[in-house]
Amino acid sequence: MKRDGTLQKKQRQGKKVQIFKSRKKKSTEEDAAIQYLRAQYDKIVPDEVKSFKDFPLSQKTLKGLKESNYTTPTEIQRQAIGYALQGKDILGAAKTGSGKTLAFLIPVLEKLFCTKWTRFDGVGALVISPTRELAYQIYETLRKVGYLHDFSAGLIIGGQNLKFEKKRMDQINILICTPGRLLQHMDENPLFHCNNLQILVLDEADRCLDMGFEATMNAVIENLPPERQTLLFSATQTKSVKDLARLSLSFPTYVAPHEQAETVTPESLQQSYIVCEIDEKLGILWSFIRNHLKQKVLVFMATCKQVKYTYELFCKLRPGVSLLALYGTLHQERREKIYNEFCRKSNVVLFATDLASRGLDFPRVNWVIQVDCPEDVDTYIHRAGRTARGVLGKGEGLLMLLPHEEKIIEDLKRRKIPINKILVDPSKIVTPQRKIEGLLSDNIELKQSAQRAFVSYVKSVSLMKNKDIFSCQMLDTDAYAKSLGLIIPPRIKFMYKHQNKIQNNIIKPQEDKVETNVVIDKLNAKADDVESCGQNAAEEDDKELKEVRCISAEKVIKKSKRKEIPNLNFHNSDYSDEDDFLKVKKTDNNLVVDEYMEEKQIISKKNTKPLTKAAVAKKILKKKIKVNTKVKFTEDGETIEDEKKDVKSQAAKLFMNEDVGGVDIEKAKEVLREEDKFDKIRFREKVKEKHREQKRKLKNKRKEEGEKDEFGSQSESDGPDLSWLPDPDNVYNKKAISNEYKSDSDIDQVISDNDETGDESEDQKYHRPPKRKLLENKGIPQDSVIPRKVKKIQDLSGSLSVLEAEAFAMQLLRAK
Ligand code: ADP
Ligand code: MG
Repeated sequence: MKRDGTLQKKQRQGKKVQIFKSRKKKSTEEDAAIQYLRAQYDKIVPDEVKSFKDFPLSQKTLKGLKESNYTTPTEIQRQAIGYALQGKDILGAAKTGSGKTLAFLIPVLEKLFCTKWTRFDGVGALVISPTRELAYQIYETLRKVGYLHDFSAGLIIGGQNLKFEKKRMDQINILICTPGRLLQHMDENPLFHCNNLQILVLDEADRCLDMGFEATMNAVIENLPPERQTLLFSATQTKSVKDLARLSLSFPTYVAPHEQAETVTPESLQQSYIVCEIDEKLGILWSFIRNHLKQKVLVFMATCKQVKYTYELFCKLRPGVSLLALYGTLHQERREKIYNEFCRKSNVVLFATDLASRGLDFPRVNWVIQVDCPEDVDTYIHRAGRTARGVLGKGEGLLMLLPHEEKIIEDLKRRKIPINKILVDPSKIVTPQRKIEGLLSDNIELKQSAQRAFVSYVKSVSLMKNKDIFSCQMLDTDAYAKSLGLIIPPRIKFMYKHQNKIQNNIIKPQEDKVETNVVIDKLNAKADDVESCGQNAAEEDDKELKEVRCISAEKVIKKSKRKEIPNLNFHNSDYSDEDDFLKVKKTDNNLVVDEYMEEKQIISKKNTKPLTKAAVAKKILKKKIKVNTKVKFTEDGETIEDEKKDVKSQAAKLFMNEDVGGVDIEKAKEVLREEDKFDKIRFREKVKEKHREQKRKLKNKRKEEGEKDEFGSQSESDGPDLSWLPDPDNVYNKKAISNEYKSDSDIDQVISDNDETGDESEDQKYHRPPKRKLLENKGIPQDSVIPRKVKKIQDLSGSLSVLEAEAFAMQLLRAK
């Protein structure tokens, strides 16, 4: 209103008022700004940059940063943005939570701004992230910082509506995506191409380029134009020449502001580890959660199934704090919901796989607990880096190690990770063991979940590359199963087979490390087999029914050592409001210098040979199992010989006794022909027997009737009046003759016809329709047509007595 008033006033005064800037003017202003900015790029001196304003950035980007409360660039931003604006390829390495996202998003926005990119120019920038959650997070940051720009941004991740995405792909300028989904669009969507791509970004680059994504990424890179700018960022950056060559990066600028830092992890991150037995882990975790109800805790475990079970179990045990679980096999919608819930809440525990270890910026996480030993140092850095993020972030990390896994600490220290050993006071650990066992006995689903968790963990250990730290043989699997609430440890088929091989000296113990991988790779093809649990044992081979006990000599020693472990004391003074369970009492003199597992398992599954029917057949042949054998018994329990299966011919007998691998088709054919002769004889005899039987019956019946005639007909009261029935003689004669008509030679003919031509007519193959019907179909009254032979007999039957007729019939039969 006010503005309108001023406008009218100005108009009245006759002044020229410009309501909108003309498009042309806007464009020339923009051109001038772009020219100015470009001219400034070469003058950037990173050390002199104190605020984002010191960078030659567009007003739109600067405003977006300011409104999101980003004023001072972080170290990686200060050093990387300048080079990126100059158009250089960047290899950026900086600690977790140091602001790498903006270090690549700002150059992306500026690059497209300076090339005056429009909606119709297609994809100008591509940002690839290894996980959906991270892609979503980058997308949200882009929206926040770049909302004043005119570009369109798209989030393309798995688990979404592919059709919906397909239609919009050609309109996206900045594409944030995961590798798999991107490749799917490249392969399937004719509207989508990246021919105009200006800038490619790989966040968590080392992960994007590692084995898990190798094939996908190679295919993606093939579809990208080589003349583009490439930015790679990670806390654990790849320097592999091979990786760089794959991306056609010959001389990238290496930007690593923390390379000379004393630690590779954030300074405000306090890190400790404990050494415990495998069966103590669950109790320690439970006690930890119970003692940190007012904290935000992120718990990492090795596999999805462990996360699922621990979450389900702890929910049932009701610790008094919100619990969440995030893992790869969850539905996408659930994943998004859980991710957002964990971001929002402050007193909450999230159980997660390594899916959540890379890049995710959950706000205000107090604790990161690593229940299972990380695969390698890089995984440790990323997991622990989910806390103590940003400029002011603080946090603590706790790593749980089994005694034989403690070796990893040396690797951590070598990589400049300050980590202290702390002790736990066992008296402070409360394990609701009885309650867990009770819950499992009541709830079969929970029990199965525990069994799956157990097997998946053992399997994950066996799949680990670093055999110096990870060893299935060192795991006290019985104790672990018990701690999960399983009284009978589930059977671990692949371990049993492996141990058997060692015992039978098929593999030598020193080959153990390599062979475990081989065995597991083979078994990956039958992942379900590996996971079959104790209760399914009845369906398995006798041999495999035996439960596996992985107790080796080493384990016995380990058990005896266990008793010597001193009292554990486990502290943290920062949280004095909590129970003294976790109060820090640093033992300084003790200081010694996503989805991945699941995905990797899936990948290795793909690489293994599928189990074919031929392989199964071979296995059966090897075991000399006779398939489909059926033995019949008499009531006394004696076997009945099935004469059909008895071979008669000499050739067949010889063939049966021959023990050759495979089948000689020609020989088998010959044997069948021989056997066929005997079959025909057998069949003919059967037919004859049947005829004889029918004749016998006929004879008996006639005799009965003859007797009736001799002794007078029965009185009416003796039975019903059957006078309306046709003359039985006529009928029986007809039958006898029709039987006769179907002679042995006729049957022979049918069989031999079949043999020779192999072309069975309907009549031969199936039951013939009665002639009566055929006649009816032709519209001829059946009574008027009588077969010739039958008619002849009918004529005679009128003049003959029963006995005479019988004698005549017999004569006819004999003549035949
Ligand atoms: P990284 O990718 O290095 O792990 P992120 O880009 O996720 O780190 O940033 C970590 C946190 O730091 C985020 O919460 C982000 O908002 C914040 N942050 C990034 N840059 C700045 C900045 N210049 N000033 C203040 N906070 C920042
Ligand atoms: Mg990041």
